[in-house]
Amino acid sequence: MAKRDYYEVLGVNKNASEAEIKKAYRRLAIKYHPDKNPGDKEAEEKFKDFSEAYSVLSDSQKRANYDQFGHAAAGGGFTSEGFGGGGSPFEDIFGDIFGDIFGGGGRRGSGGGQRGDDLRYNLTIEFEEAAFGLESKIQVPRHQDCDGCGGSGAKKGTSPTTCSTCRGAGQVRVQQGFFSLTRPCPKCGGKGKVISDPCPKCTGHGRIRSRKTLSIRIPAGVETGSRLKLTAEGDTGTGGGPSGDLYVVITVKEHSLFQREGQDVICEVPISFPQAALGCELEVPTLDGKTRIKVPAGTQSGKVLRLADKGIPSLQGYGRGAHLVVLRVETPTKMSARQKEILEEFAAMGGEEIHPNNKGFFDKVKDLFE
Ligand SMILES: [Zn+2]
Ligand SMILES: [Zn+2]
Repeated sequence: MAKRDYYEVLGVNKNASEAEIKKAYRRLAIKYHPDKNPGDKEAEEKFKDFSEAYSVLSDSQKRANYDQFGHAAAGGGFTSEGFGGGGSPFEDIFGDIFGDIFGGGGRRGSGGGQRGDDLRYNLTIEFEEAAFGLESKIQVPRHQDCDGCGGSGAKKGTSPTTCSTCRGAGQVRVQQGFFSLTRPCPKCGGKGKVISDPCPKCTGHGRIRSRKTLSIRIPAGVETGSRLKLTAEGDTGTGGGPSGDLYVVITVKEHSLFQREGQDVICEVPISFPQAALGCELEVPTLDGKTRIKVPAGTQSGKVLRLADKGIPSLQGYGRGAHLVVLRVETPTKMSARQKEILEEFAAMGGEEIHPNNKGFFDKVKDLFE
C-alpha cells in the first residue's frame, strides 16, 4: 500500500515552517484524538497517520532525510555520527495545550532502535493529598509492543526477513563526489529487516496505542508543578530501542479554608470584636483536624498565631511547616437598638488607654502636615 505524502497528511506545503507544521498537527490532534473519538477506527487511523507524519516533519534532521529519501528514510534509526542527539522531545511538548499525553519526535537510542517518546500525565489531587501523599492508580495511554505480533510488526507465524539491499546493516554507502557517505538503507529505512507480511493489528509498526494502569506513590509535600519521573514507563521504543520515561505532573486543587505558602498553611479565622478585646478560646481547623487555640485579650486584626509542626511535611522528609492562624476582627453590622446604645456608651468612655494605636497614628499625621 502506497503511503501518503507526510506533507499531504498534515495539509501543509513543502516549505511549511516548523510553527505551521505544529499548528496543523495540533488542529488535527484536537479533532481526531482517540479519547474524543472512542471506537472510531477511521479517526484512530487518521490519528496514527498524522502523528507519524508529525514525528518526522517536526524533527529537522528527519525532515531533511524524508525530503531526500522519502518514506524509506523516515522512522529508521539513524546511527551515523554527526546526527546530534537534539533536545528531549518532552521539553518541546512540555506545557503544551494538551492535558493529555503527546509525544514529539523520537530520540535515537544507542542501538539501531529508536527510543520511545517521553510522556506527560497531568494529575490533579486534593490539598490534603498533596500534604500527606497518596497512592493512586493512573491509566496512561501510550504506545506499547503490539500483542498481535509481540512487537516484531510481522504477521503471526511469519517473521521479518533480513533486508537484501543492506544485508541487515541498516545502512548503505553512497558515493558523493570524493566522499563515501553512510546513509540509512532506503529499502528498510535503517531497520536492517523488512516485513513482507505485516501484522494486521499494528499494520507492521510493532506498536499499538493502548492504556496501561500504573500504581504510583505521590510523596507527602508535593505542590503544583511537582514532577514525578517514572523511568521507562513512556512509549515503547521501536526496533529494540529503549522505552521513554513518563512524567506525572501534579496540580493541587485549591482548598476552601487553607492556603499554602512554602511549607506553611495559612488559615484566616474571623473573630468578633468582643472576642478580640476580651480574649477567648477558639476551635480552629488544621490539616490534623480541629485544635483549640487561645486568643489573648487585646488582639488586633491581622494578628498571626503560629502552630508549629502542623503545616505541610517537607518533600525531603525533614519536619513540617507551621499552621498560621490569621485573626480577622469583624466589625458588627446588624445591631439591635440596645447594642448600639451600649456601644455608644462605650465610645463615649473611650480614650487612649483602650485604643493603643490611635494616639500614635494621629501624632504621626500631625508631624506630616505641620
Ligand atoms: Zn502487531
Ligand atoms: Zn536495508
